[in-house]
Amino acid sequence: MNPNWTQSWRDVCQRIRAAEQACGRPSGAVRLLAVSKTFPAQAVSELAESVGQRDFGENYVQEGVDKILALASTPIGPQLVWHCIGPLQSNKTRLVAEHFHWVHSVDRIRIAQRLSDQRPVHLSPLQVCLQVNIDGGATKSGVAPESALELALAVSAMPRLQLRGLMTIPDPLEDLAAQLQVHRSASALFLKLERELSLPHWDTLSMGMSADLEAAIQAGTNMVRVGAAIFGQRPRGGDPFPVQSLQ
Ligand SMILES: *Cc1c(COP(=O)(O)O)cnc(C)c1O
Repeated sequence: MNPNWTQSWRDVCQRIRAAEQACGRPSGAVRLLAVSKTFPAQAVSELAESVGQRDFGENYVQEGVDKILALASTPIGPQLVWHCIGPLQSNKTRLVAEHFHWVHSVDRIRIAQRLSDQRPVHLSPLQVCLQVNIDGGATKSGVAPESALELALAVSAMPRLQLRGLMTIPDPLEDLAAQLQVHRSASALFLKLERELSLPHWDTLSMGMSADLEAAIQAGTNMVRVGAAIFGQRPRGGDPFPVQSLQ
């Protein structure tokens, strides 16, 4: 048992509750997705068993599937909810469709169509967020904000997908006001699409990470994806940003 993960998880929950309170949002308005990429399956099972965390996020499809399978036959396995949050290539869609519950990183029709076609009939529909390139980084994945409605219309018609909302990964910004500005534009797009689409299950804005979750909560996120602040610095890579944007 690694006591630090449990304590850091509690600290993160505390940060979330404090941020909710600071802007007058109800306690529990924001769901915590624990990003376990690069950490072993044991980290997931320990956190799940000790504090009841259920949602886990993975970036690399094969790594995620290995953990899902490793935990599937353990007592906690059936209670876990697995989210694929990393970039998707065509040759990986089948694994995602067969093993994950959620995908946050759908950014083009072709990938969505493959996921829908490949989702096994015995499973419930795959829960989908569209990744939006909200700050326009040239090297980043994500649909352009002005094309999000068109993509959402197409995805919402796919039989084996259930469209839940949007996901963003803005470039890291130090300044809280700057973070807020980007997150607010994502929030505005989320609400605009909610009005224009009126979909029954449109309820998820996946936005905010270890370094900017307070700003994201203030801007209206309802799902934060937190890795480093829970599990510690990653032993190898796994950064959501293109390397050049950090320089
Ligand atoms: C790694 C990752 C996170 C978590 O980032 P931290 O800074 O470790 O909290 C969130 N979202 C995506 C898409 C990621 O790749």
